[in-house]
Amino acid sequence: MEAIVAIVGRPNVGKSTLFNRLIGQRLAIVEDIPGITRDRLYGDTEWTGHHFTLIDTGGIEIEGNTDISVQTRKQAEIAIAEADLILFLTDGKQGLQADDHEIAEYLRKSKKPVLLVVNKIDNVAMVQQIYDFYELGLGDPLEISAVNGLNIGDLLDAIVEAIPSQTMDEVEDDSIKISFIGRPNVGKSSLINSILGEERVIVSNVPGTTRDAIDTLFEWQEQKYTLIDTAGMRRKSKIYENVERFSVLRALRAVDRSDVVMMVLDAVEGVTEQDQRIAGYAHEKGRGMILVVNKWDLVEKDSKTADQMAKKIKDDLIFVSYAPVVFVSALTGQRIPRLLELVNYVSEQQNMRLQTSSINDLLQEAMRMNPPPNVSGRKLKIYYVSQVAVKPPVFVFFANDPELAHFSYIRYLENQIRATYGFEGTPIKLTFRARERN
Ligand code: GDP
Ligand code: GDP
Repeated sequence: MEAIVAIVGRPNVGKSTLFNRLIGQRLAIVEDIPGITRDRLYGDTEWTGHHFTLIDTGGIEIEGNTDISVQTRKQAEIAIAEADLILFLTDGKQGLQADDHEIAEYLRKSKKPVLLVVNKIDNVAMVQQIYDFYELGLGDPLEISAVNGLNIGDLLDAIVEAIPSQTMDEVEDDSIKISFIGRPNVGKSSLINSILGEERVIVSNVPGTTRDAIDTLFEWQEQKYTLIDTAGMRRKSKIYENVERFSVLRALRAVDRSDVVMMVLDAVEGVTEQDQRIAGYAHEKGRGMILVVNKWDLVEKDSKTADQMAKKIKDDLIFVSYAPVVFVSALTGQRIPRLLELVNYVSEQQNMRLQTSSINDLLQEAMRMNPPPNVSGRKLKIYYVSQVAVKPPVFVFFANDPELAHFSYIRYLENQIRATYGFEGTPIKLTFRARERN
């Protein structure tokens, strides 16, 4: 379980600059995936072996409100509700502002771990400008320059140290972890309630990781399942709805903890930008995915409707086009039993391990049919492939020069693997390494 670290602060203090600096290199890699939005507000990073997810709350748009200080406050509220650690970013060049006091008070009351960071201290001479910030009562301010990269290592050390340790690991059991993700009102609660209908044995409710999160463990045909973070959905508390309305963070956290994500879409409304973001995140995290189109009863349909809609959804969510689409109605119960069957299927697919000989046969055949193209006079030679992991499946290709493996050829290989073995509902990763000398 990875910790979530949220950057909070007034506009223009440098949140997105810091975010980009901390996420840096990884972002560039991610942008190669077609269809994933460039406008990102979360990203993974790693420091001294500790992984965490960073969120720029400045990127969370609060609907229907243009007042900047209200926006900032709401963003802080979301961070308090969802994050494990808050980076409170201030502007050392501009100095301490009234709004900083307001945010600080709010953060103090929350009792969440907070790191006070003073940005734009671009050189040593500016360091005395941080002393005012002690007034905020949030401990020692840490000075950085997001633009110049000053003290970023110290900041990362401080982050790793301040992340509460219990978020670092989670109790393992043999249940398949499922989350239902989607916009408000798509029918997540209704789906959960129909899955947990009378015939299911609910084994227990166990506290999840966020304050009011509850997971539900149940059994069906001798398989155990955990529904991640069902509390808000089953209770529909006021706080939950307020936070949910703005927050993708809760969804991201649920995705993190899931084996299989049920992305719930409304048959009438289709895919939203937020759905794309979350699906992109699940993809990067290697999670299984099922696209659940709910409220199928509301759609007027003929024999082609389902196919057409499935195609449209897959176009909108092109980077998870491996995910099966299922049309259901929580209201009438149509295909609800199919959902858990699909979960089992995707779970098998993501745990599938191929024989080394058969994957190498496939590689040889794929290269024979479509040899790697020349890249500035040089040719990619792939000698050998090996599956090194499951959930998600990872394949390592040993080649003369990994730099010659272009995106389009990698995609071709992925398509060949999928055409033969399926891996439905799960991302697979193809990586290239230079062949080691014998
Ligand atoms: P956000 O609104 O909090 O996300 O702030 P931005 O990251 O967009 O930055 C606002 C402005 O401050 C931009 O013009 C940045 O180039 C500038 N900025 C960010 N970090 C630093 C820094 O460390 N030093 C200086 N001098 N300017 C910075
Ligand atoms: P959530 O916010 O995603 O948890 O959505 P809810 O489960 O609370 O459902 C929102 C609304 O959609 C409620 O009024 C439900 O009764 C309705 N609803 C949920 N599933 C269906 C469905 O399959 N068909 C129809 N017609 N309505 C549904």
